[in-house]
Amino acid sequence: MSDRDQVQLNAGVEKDSASEQGSLCANRSDLSVRNECMTQDIAGKGAKAATEHCAPPAANACPSLEQLSEMKEDCALAALGACKPWQCDALASQLVAMPAHAWNKRHFAISDAIYKQVTVADYLAPMLKARFGVATSLDSVDADQRENAETFQNSEPKKEVPWTVAGLRHLYDAFIRLPQAHLNTVVAIVTFDTASVMYGDANVVGKSWADPNLLHGQGFIRILYSDSHLVSGKNAKSDRQEDLSYGFDKLSFAVLHEIAHSVDSGKKYSGEEDYRKITDWKAHPVSDPDQLVQAIFDCLAVPTPPMTDAEIAATKNVGKAMIKDREITRKNLDGAVSDVEFSDQDPETQEVSREILRQKIRTSGLILHILRAFANQDPWNKEDRFDNMKDRHIHEGYTGDNFWYSYPIAARKSEPRINSYQFRDPSEEFAEVYAMFYITKTENSEGGKKLPDKFKTWFIGKGLHTGQDKGSKNPEQPKHEEP
Ligand SMILES: [Zn+2]
Repeated sequence: MSDRDQVQLNAGVEKDSASEQGSLCANRSDLSVRNECMTQDIAGKGAKAATEHCAPPAANACPSLEQLSEMKEDCALAALGACKPWQCDALASQLVAMPAHAWNKRHFAISDAIYKQVTVADYLAPMLKARFGVATSLDSVDADQRENAETFQNSEPKKEVPWTVAGLRHLYDAFIRLPQAHLNTVVAIVTFDTASVMYGDANVVGKSWADPNLLHGQGFIRILYSDSHLVSGKNAKSDRQEDLSYGFDKLSFAVLHEIAHSVDSGKKYSGEEDYRKITDWKAHPVSDPDQLVQAIFDCLAVPTPPMTDAEIAATKNVGKAMIKDREITRKNLDGAVSDVEFSDQDPETQEVSREILRQKIRTSGLILHILRAFANQDPWNKEDRFDNMKDRHIHEGYTGDNFWYSYPIAARKSEPRINSYQFRDPSEEFAEVYAMFYITKTENSEGGKKLPDKFKTWFIGKGLHTGQDKGSKNPEQPKHEEP
């Protein structure tokens, strides 16, 4: 979570038997399809106590991969309980020696059962790739994704560094909660630097949302972290202790947050009208500066000092120019002031009046607000930033984005909030909602334990809890052109 981008199983079709599903899945050649197929039935079947029909394991005997493959699944998972970390490493080395396409459902289950014990990053990384289809290094990105990967790599910062063992385990922890359909939108999650600040960002190149047949999306995610960020409860700057996201492990939260952006590619979800109604977001296009400045003006309790209509018009003109230029320029100020008639005054008085008006404009609520509402000012994180507002906040979500956004002050003041970062823009809020849903998911619960009902109901209504898309009508998404 940071100033760049805060750092953030599957219902499926029931199969008659696990082994039938396993063999069906094994026949699928496409990795993503196969993973989807495999993942459907694994949740809820983690290692459980050995049942009576299982042969009692020999003392300290960790079965080999071959033996595990021949046992009943619940017996195999129970038998893994006897494995020491070094034996899990040995099993992991056997797993990753197999090509990803040869992994079957049993291998998935074994991988899920041992990953927390595996101590070698060089095993964990290919386990993640084979199990979930997501690369953790650009070296292992498929050739057809190479160009996008290189574009991504060329952005700052450049130095890719390997994930730590602890980091990879956290990644696995995050992935195992998610529908495979969501992971299919992500090509790679790479880490570029073990920085003192943590942040993540998602570079979603493709438009996988537009084409349901395109199973592998093109989301490249970059996470900067160090193992010091893996401690639960270490909070990001936008978290307050009373915030809902406070106290969770930040790397997992950040990973879930960034995957959400990939799932939400093209604002597939966060651009939907019914989503935006939840917080009462309004988008104000930059392409209509008159409307945008008027919207800002309308949000302010005291938009200007006492002014004539002509002076207010001049102030708004300076505001419009500022939104474009991102600063108050003398030229714009003089131009706006010269529009105001002072013809009833003698020339010397006119010049004094113009200077007074320049000062009034510079210190008006409208102009001060615009200066403080640019994205590079982090206005969403500053509680005292909007003292001069009536009942809505308004700011720029991203530098150079096509929209400013407004939302009710009550959403951050009088209701439980996830954290202040959710108020950056609707897509960041969606990412926080998504992370908040999945961070509390366990083998036995669907997640969303602490997520406010208004979001949870919508989330489940969209099928986001299973990855089975319930469809969306997003007015902002570009049209999908049929080939
Ligand atoms: Zn984000």
